[in-house]
Amino acid sequence: MDSFFQHKARKRFGQNFLVDENIIERIVRAVAPTESDKLVEIGPGQGAITELLLQRCPSLTAVELDRDLIPLLQFKFRNYLQFKIIEQDALKFDFGEFAADSPLRIVGNLPYNISTPLLFHLLSFKGKVRDMHFMLQKEVVDRLSATPGNKSFGRLSVMVQYHCRVQGLFPVPPQSFQPAPKVESAIVRLTPHEKLPFIAEDEKLLERIVNVAFQQRRKTLRNALKPLFPELDVNSFPVDASRRPETLGVEEFVRLANFCTQLEKQKNNKPI
Ligand code: SAM
Repeated sequence: MDSFFQHKARKRFGQNFLVDENIIERIVRAVAPTESDKLVEIGPGQGAITELLLQRCPSLTAVELDRDLIPLLQFKFRNYLQFKIIEQDALKFDFGEFAADSPLRIVGNLPYNISTPLLFHLLSFKGKVRDMHFMLQKEVVDRLSATPGNKSFGRLSVMVQYHCRVQGLFPVPPQSFQPAPKVESAIVRLTPHEKLPFIAEDEKLLERIVNVAFQQRRKTLRNALKPLFPELDVNSFPVDASRRPETLGVEEFVRLANFCTQLEKQKNNKPI
């Protein structure tokens, strides 16, 4: 490419550019885009994955925060007439409005410094998303796919698994990037459930319970939840209150949240 577009990777934007052709191909094969898909790429960078995606699916919109990369991408993909680039912070991007009637397929080698808030932001649009393929720190992929009792199991595991099917796909070593990150990476596929396997009546309360529980993951459930429900009678709990939060599965957290929702309702309806 023209030397005019030489770009120096910026740490503050989490820029580690993929340079390993085999890995890029494996990612695109895992996404398996088709011509009729509506693809969104978060953080296209210098277009390493974008190019192969566009060859299979012309309708691709990229969301990139670093304005210096925009002319480079516009030039590189000038022959793809349906390619659009939006200069914006993905954390503020309204994926729901953008999806309109056709569900999105989202792809991204994500900036690791914002990956958790970005995942939560994306979950808020899950009804408009068919699937998501992300490169993340391997440790984050382990947390996303962890099962109860595992040391990686926590808030991220419960809340993402509540909304999505999680599949860890394959690891990616540091030398596949330029500059090489200090950590191992991995590819994960998140597919929002068409029908939730377990339904929390009040999702905000589920989030609060999961949050509080994992702030005190080594305590018993009884003690961990005390700050949230000081007057709760633990004997009526739908799960054993002497267990540690890290041993509860998604279904049990949902059961607990629904129990607390009922209690709150009863409390609010009590005559004074
Ligand atoms: N996709 C490219 C690749 O694989 O080589 C670049 C990946 S690099 C790890 C992350 C990309 O996300 C960079 O291009 C960076 O500028 C962009 N980025 C960082 N923060 C962002 C944000 N909040 N919203 C959108 N893009 C962001």
